[in-house]
Amino acid sequence: MLFAEVVLPLPLYSSFTYSIPEGMEGVVTGSRVLVQFGRRKFYTGIVASVHPDAPEGYSVKPISLLLDPTPIVRFPQLRLWQWIADYYLCSPGEVYKAAIPTGLKPESTTFLSLSPDCDLLEASASLKEEEARILQLVSSEKRLSISDIESRTEITNATSYIRPLLEQGVLEVAEAVVEKYRPKTVRMVRLSLRPGDHDGVHRLLDLTNRSTRQQNALMAYLDMSGFLSTRTEPKEVERDALMQRAGITPGILKAMVDKEIFEVYKKSVNRFQDFDGDTCPIPPLTEIQRDAFDAIAEGFRTKEVMLLHGVTGSGKTEIYAHLIDRVLNAGRQVLFLVPEISLTTQLTDRLRRLFGDRLLVYHSKFSDNERVDVWRRVLDSHDPLLILGARSAVFLPFHHLGLVIVDEEHESSYKQYDPAPRYNARDTAMVLASMHGAKTLLGSATPAVDTYYKALNGKYGLVTLSERFEGAALPTVEIIDMKDQRKRKLSDGILSQPLRLATEQAMHDGKQALMFQNRRGFAPFVVCRNCGWTPRCTNCDVALVYHKHSDLLRCHYCGFSMPLPPLCPACQENSVEVYGYGTERIAEEVHRRFEGYRVGRMDLDSTRNKDAFQEIIEDFSCHNMDILVGTQMITKGLDFGDVTVVGVLNADSLLNFPDFRANERAFNMLEQVAGRAGRRSDAGYVFIQTTDPGNAVLAHVAAHDYKAFYEMEIQSRERLLYPPFSRIINIFLKNKNSTDAEAAAHLFANALRATFGPRVLGPEKPFVSRVATWYLQCIMLKIESSASMSKVKRILRTIYESLARDPRIKSSVIYYDVDPA
Ligand code: ADP
Ligand code: ZN
Ligand code: ZN
Repeated sequence: MLFAEVVLPLPLYSSFTYSIPEGMEGVVTGSRVLVQFGRRKFYTGIVASVHPDAPEGYSVKPISLLLDPTPIVRFPQLRLWQWIADYYLCSPGEVYKAAIPTGLKPESTTFLSLSPDCDLLEASASLKEEEARILQLVSSEKRLSISDIESRTEITNATSYIRPLLEQGVLEVAEAVVEKYRPKTVRMVRLSLRPGDHDGVHRLLDLTNRSTRQQNALMAYLDMSGFLSTRTEPKEVERDALMQRAGITPGILKAMVDKEIFEVYKKSVNRFQDFDGDTCPIPPLTEIQRDAFDAIAEGFRTKEVMLLHGVTGSGKTEIYAHLIDRVLNAGRQVLFLVPEISLTTQLTDRLRRLFGDRLLVYHSKFSDNERVDVWRRVLDSHDPLLILGARSAVFLPFHHLGLVIVDEEHESSYKQYDPAPRYNARDTAMVLASMHGAKTLLGSATPAVDTYYKALNGKYGLVTLSERFEGAALPTVEIIDMKDQRKRKLSDGILSQPLRLATEQAMHDGKQALMFQNRRGFAPFVVCRNCGWTPRCTNCDVALVYHKHSDLLRCHYCGFSMPLPPLCPACQENSVEVYGYGTERIAEEVHRRFEGYRVGRMDLDSTRNKDAFQEIIEDFSCHNMDILVGTQMITKGLDFGDVTVVGVLNADSLLNFPDFRANERAFNMLEQVAGRAGRRSDAGYVFIQTTDPGNAVLAHVAAHDYKAFYEMEIQSRERLLYPPFSRIINIFLKNKNSTDAEAAAHLFANALRATFGPRVLGPEKPFVSRVATWYLQCIMLKIESSASMSKVKRILRTIYESLARDPRIKSSVIYYDVDPA
């Protein structure tokens, strides 16, 4: 007897063992199966392995159904899942849940219905009694769950009778959570002639000579299909496209079908826009770019991972395109990761022109059917494909993966924060690549400090591009002292005088401006209006955050806290304030200031629906808009030609974020947003407004000096033992009861201290300490970066088991965030 380890889409610590019933063939690693879990529930699971060892201690249930003839997940995918579960301290089921599109994993309740192709009478003839009863019941209802079938027919082992019914195609699984996946079809038109039959065409033309409309339709078809060409096969023509082109109604088309001029047929298509039109050649690289390209290719001989550190506008994307081309031509797949869905918009167009329908796009804003389509295409296709996607694209069933590109690798949005798996797609992609024997290219103008450290230490190869394409100058950055502006009454509250004047000039010259306001500016932060003092932790290199509820300033890392001082401790004035302002108000103000110009806004609120983002980008790109106000969404990778002025309205909120990565994030964001200015021939000007003009991070941005920034930052990391000199695991504990949450967190932290000693910090209430009625506590574990994560996982599990019976632990949910971003 054989057994299968089945991963279920549940946060269970391990996989579950099921037996493979006699006669069920084709259950292999990666198969999708239906299994019973608990008394009544059925789940779709994935077979992780098949083995002959009967488990001890419980009786196994058989697999109820095998859902597809061939596996839908490849073996390397399963290895990657296991790696994610181990490294990010979560369950394989949680990874499975994130990895597989909903359309492939109906959960909990699986419904059965009568197959539409089934002839009930004919089918019933050869059935066993139980099968017939089940069939009758299902046919009298529209659809039924397996447990309903069991209870209503009182057949205990119903799945063993259902299986043959499914196999014969009498019943089908109707997925309840989502509509069952169906390939999309379009109606196509063709002539009822063989290609090249010129006499036939003349005959058809004669048939239509009494109707100009029909004749138009025929001519349009001949043109669109190239039917008369002697050199090429006729192209397929979509019915709708033909009707539109010829300007005819469905009635006219129908008349032509009735006359047997046209035939209409259905064709199933992938839900991608089929690319018609020719691809363009990839623009040749400049000499400097060519050198970088060669250095990358050379570096890959000895390194698994290369970092391309290229200033904004240096042509990193062009270099990627050449690398992609090379790998595709070698017959291998390429994964191109971008940190945010929004970035796929501009890149899709650019890559589509170069790679045509070899390009697939995959991200979570696609409909489920679209995602299933891409999944199947990657699974089945043996053609070299380029997959462009946001982080969930790392889960696709690649084969022959040859190259992974992680663009803007420093971006924190590569990290999934909630729910589990809390994985970093950049790091996961590198593991994925190595499992396939593929190489990884990381690209950024402002590499993550951790990444750059690895590159300098030889773990990764490093290639630098320090010039913009065609020598366009990097923008001039001016740091504006807002205290001074206010004192001299030059600022209008939001815009300083230099930013205002430069924007006026740009508008006057018919150019465009971007205004950036950090989204996190909504969160309250504390600053002295008079002298710019901000409260900082005495133990950590982070700013303190004001908690309104307790009226305290707190450090999120070590638990240090102090009351909000009534007077500023630096200047003794009564001017300490908690404030923040958002893009909406700013857009309004800017609009008032620049009357007659078109002002747009881009933030989470204005881009909720799928197309809104694209529309704003397009509007701005075609200069239907003069000024765009936005959050960090506007900072990343976008390429606008006419932008000459960029304003950073308030850099303070970036600089004072309570987190050891605050400086890094601030430098990255400012350098990226500055990089949007002056990308073509026009000079670009960037204005950074702050109350802390002496801040070292700002000085490095003004000089566009990444290296100097890095040197400063890496020293502070080393001193405080932050990554890359340690690895951080945040342990979150949540409970519906606030006292129990605190008690459980202390219990857990103390137990951790017995093993990990001073590596344990906290517990501490996180900034948002109550989420969806749960009270949160956070314990920080700072461990050696060389520590084995599977060992850490085992220790954490042991500690948890030793405390598991404590009611406060029992009523708590505990989860881990490894490498928080
Ligand atoms: P990055 O990704 O480094 O910010 P891009 O690849 O977006 O830079 O290049 C900036 C601009 O310069 C783009 O508009 C791009 O089309 C153009 N460009 C860069 N390299 C070339 C090249 N070799 N040939 C033609 N245009 C180029
Ligand atoms: Zn002060
Ligand atoms: Zn602290």
